[in-house]
Amino acid sequence: MAAPSPGVSELVAAARRVYVQVFGDEAPQLAVCAPGRVNLIGEHTDYNQGFVLPMALPLVTVVVGSQTSGQDVTVVTTTEDADEPRRVDFSLPTDGSQLSPGLPSWANYVKGVLQHYRAPPVPGFRAVIASSVPLGGGLSSSASLEVAFYTFLQQLKPDNGDKVLKAVACQQAEHSHAGVPCGIMDQFVSVLGREGHALLIDCRSLEASPVPLADPGLVILITNSNVKHSLSGSEYPTRRRQCEHAASILGKDSLRDATMKDLEEARDRLDDVTYRRARHVIEEIERTTCAAEALKRGAFKEFGKLMVESHNSLRDLYEVSCRELDELVSAAMEVEGVYGSRMTGGGFGGCTVTLLQAQAIDRTILHIQMLNLNSPDDNSNRNSLQDPVSLNVGGELYTTTLDTLTRC
Ligand code: ADP
Ligand code: MG
Repeated sequence: MAAPSPGVSELVAAARRVYVQVFGDEAPQLAVCAPGRVNLIGEHTDYNQGFVLPMALPLVTVVVGSQTSGQDVTVVTTTEDADEPRRVDFSLPTDGSQLSPGLPSWANYVKGVLQHYRAPPVPGFRAVIASSVPLGGGLSSSASLEVAFYTFLQQLKPDNGDKVLKAVACQQAEHSHAGVPCGIMDQFVSVLGREGHALLIDCRSLEASPVPLADPGLVILITNSNVKHSLSGSEYPTRRRQCEHAASILGKDSLRDATMKDLEEARDRLDDVTYRRARHVIEEIERTTCAAEALKRGAFKEFGKLMVESHNSLRDLYEVSCRELDELVSAAMEVEGVYGSRMTGGGFGGCTVTLLQAQAIDRTILHIQMLNLNSPDDNSNRNSLQDPVSLNVGGELYTTTLDTLTRC
């Protein structure tokens, strides 16, 4: 069965312990958290001003900490990542200068949020981060870190509380300090996700409509391929540029405004790669709105079919899947009771998301675990599907969105 992830209170307790160890016997005054997310459908559409349909997860990032008297900041992460130090110390500029990105690279998410916080200046502080969102797994550990940190800063010095502007500030932090030109989806759903609902987000108007996901006979299964992606690498920005290029050739502000008819009419002016990228985006935007409608009607088979079409398009047209993700999707689709499955997140690794009947969960997990994703010459820790997360939609495992958690 799926291994339970640590809950919010366990994460807070772990972060508090580290805080006391690192900073002496003082307990932190504040604890906040923000969720990761899984995107059900609508991939690589957010930066094309299209639609996305994510939901917040019970996997969360927590930040505990306290204000200090000066301008000094110390942040410690309890999450292991590569060889980077887990502690960073810096001073908040008093002369209005920028907080430059640097090393360790994870601290750039924190610095970016400080830079874009909407009610500066904030006082110095000490903080510890703990998270149950896998890093680089396509479940948006980065946005959950940004949003949790922003929430932490709101506790130190309140802003006006505008949630959409909070999401936008966190997105700007990721652009300017982490070097990832991401769309708004991750930060938006981390801030505005609602319990018992997916969120259909119009990434142009920034309006969102909650879509109920409350059928106890339904499960969403997230499976981590354990292939880590790197979104600050060249592939993500390249896709983004290709879309902008396609839109400009079509004479549109963004691919949101383009139809398949427009694309076909312009085909001889587009190279093959640009055509395929644009086709994915245009069709995926359409699929996403259809999927949201299907979900509202309880038409899960229809929803599942759209998920598989989305995956195939990401694999063949957008070329952001990988062998492990393809095999996970194929394996899931072999099981009776599975409606649909697809890669989720930016791609090049990370997780798949599968929609299935609750009664099929055990056999689906077992079937997926039979896969051996390691290639013979590959010693990296690629396989190990030991931690699938299953969310019984409508049952007690279903996602919750926590904004400010508590003062501890
Ligand atoms: P995803 O958001 O899909 O998990 P990203 O590549 O966008 O993947 O973000 C992952 C990066 O975010 C990590 O490499 C790290 O720099 C940062 N990060 C996320 N969560 C934490 C955390 N708890 N502690 C330290 N860094 C984190
Ligand atoms: Mg991310």
